[in-house]
Amino acid sequence: MRIETAAVHAGTAVDEGTQAVTPPIVLSTTFARAADGGFPGGHVYTRTSNPNRGELETAMAALEGGEAATAFASGMAAVAAIFQSLAPGDRVLVPSDVYHGTVHVLRQVFQRWGLAFDLVDMADLTALDRAIGPQTRLVWIETPSNPMLRVVDVAAIAARAHAAGAVAAVDNTWATPLLQRPLDLGCDLVMHSTTKYLGGHSDVLGGIVVTRRRDAFFERLEAVQRLAGAVPSPFDCWLVRRGIRSLAARMRMHCENAEAVAQFLVGHPLVERVHYPGLPGHPGHDIARRQMRGFGGMLSFEVAGGREAAMAVAAGVEVFTRATSLGGVESLIEHRASIEGPESRTPPSLLRVSVGLESAEDLVADLHRALATLQ
Ligand SMILES: *Cc1c(COP(=O)(O)O)cnc(C)c1O
Repeated sequence: MRIETAAVHAGTAVDEGTQAVTPPIVLSTTFARAADGGFPGGHVYTRTSNPNRGELETAMAALEGGEAATAFASGMAAVAAIFQSLAPGDRVLVPSDVYHGTVHVLRQVFQRWGLAFDLVDMADLTALDRAIGPQTRLVWIETPSNPMLRVVDVAAIAARAHAAGAVAAVDNTWATPLLQRPLDLGCDLVMHSTTKYLGGHSDVLGGIVVTRRRDAFFERLEAVQRLAGAVPSPFDCWLVRRGIRSLAARMRMHCENAEAVAQFLVGHPLVERVHYPGLPGHPGHDIARRQMRGFGGMLSFEVAGGREAAMAVAAGVEVFTRATSLGGVESLIEHRASIEGPESRTPPSLLRVSVGLESAEDLVADLHRALATLQ
């Protein structure tokens, strides 16, 4: 089954009881036992398993090409479950521009439990070689990265992780399996914030981990999911599964629109830099072409005139909404440095854009108008 077909069908079937084409939402927390004590429906209690969660997990395992998946109540719960599957004394290598929540949970929660971590520039493979040590158990990969859209070589990093006996895990939230399949590139785990492109409509929070094998690491993840219990509700699972049905069509249009917006920005005299892997001048363009099927719907750009000019452009848009997050049908614009706080290393002149599914012409016209307010 090709990925577009799996996005529509994997894990779901016409409901046997009602012949409903769309799966029903099973809100029941508990499931009846047969007279012999068995569980003929295959479920016991919704923290442990639920039909809607099962549908989502089966679909995501199919989309990423893995054997198994565990769904969580948020992307960060999925990140935390991966770290909880390690042991005190283990070391984790994370990219220096990793999603800020990931480094914060390592610093504020997992360091106290004895998990050590190092930040590494993973675009520099010699820096990675120097940082990998005997205690390294997991190498975290995130590409394209936030908010500079840096691209790293997933296969090369996974090979180095494996040579050191470490697990290679990828935060694939920005690319989605439609554009990038890390397990095919040699990685062991793929994690998503399903809040973003998979849900696709900015109306549900969720996370998931897909593993290449139904192995010991998967069993630890499943124990964290079922015992620690940060599970998504049946309705949340249903919403994410529903979002995935249109993922292929949405990603195609996110990519097309982002390309159009990037081309417009590149030609604008008041835009100093555009960070989009689809641009031939982008430092990660060749790697992105090799490992991605499309360049995605995220980009960022730096406005001439620094922080104030960037804030003025963000204030001037009408079609874009000023908000954080990404991956929904609506276009969002965000001044990253101000949301990241005083530690931020993001240029103050940078605006990050999640390009949505509106008309590309309207999006370009909106940015054109907002940039014109600077003159
Ligand atoms: C949003 C996001 C997360 C965190 O997911 P939540 O669903 O907000 O908990 C992790 N990684 C990346 C790349 C994200 O964009």
